[in-house]
Amino acid sequence: MVISQSEYQKLISSAAPSDAATSAESAVTVQTVSNVVLNKKLVKRIWDKKNYCLFCGQPSKTLSRHMLQKHNDEVEVLAVPSRGKSTSERRRMWKSLTNRGNFSHNCKVVSSGTGEVVVAKRSGKGKTVTVFDYVPCPYCQGMYSRYSLYRHKKRCQARPSEKNPQRTGLYLFHALCCITY
Ligand SMILES: [Zn+2]
Ligand SMILES: [Zn+2]
Repeated sequence: MVISQSEYQKLISSAAPSDAATSAESAVTVQTVSNVVLNKKLVKRIWDKKNYCLFCGQPSKTLSRHMLQKHNDEVEVLAVPSRGKSTSERRRMWKSLTNRGNFSHNCKVVSSGTGEVVVAKRSGKGKTVTVFDYVPCPYCQGMYSRYSLYRHKKRCQARPSEKNPQRTGLYLFHALCCITY
C-alpha cells in the first residue's frame, strides 16, 4: 500500500465522521500525554511516548538505539553516527527518521480504521482529540494540530532555507517519495 501526504489528508477527510457520535466510537485514537495529576497539580510526567520504526514498524521508546542495533545496515542509519555526537544535524536526522516511521504507522492506522495515531505534540489526557484534528507537516511529516501547524512550520527544522539548500532536496524527497509498506 502506498500513501503520500496529500493522499493521507484525503483519507482523513473522506473518513471524517458525519456526526459527533460516530467520532466518539471511532477505533482510531490519538496518543496523549500520560501525567499523574494530584489536587490539580502535575506530580509526575510519564515519558512513555512510543515512536514507530521506519524500517520494521515496531514501536520503541528508544528508537535511535533500536535503529542502531537492528538496522545498522540501512544507508540512512549508517549516515547518522558519522556526523558526530549531539550535533543539531544529528538530531535533525534522527527526527526525520522518527517522523517518517510514525507517519508510515499513522497511514496504516488511518487506512485500517483502528489503532493509535502518533502525534509530534501530544495534548493532555482528558482532552478530546481525534485524528481529524491533526495534519502532517509538509517538511518533517510530524503530526501537528490544525491550529498549531502554521506556528510549527515557521520554525520547522526540516524547512528548506537558503542557508541549507540540501534540505530542499530532502523535502522534495519526502514530498515525492511515497511511503511503501
Ligand atoms: Zn526497526
Ligand atoms: Zn515540520
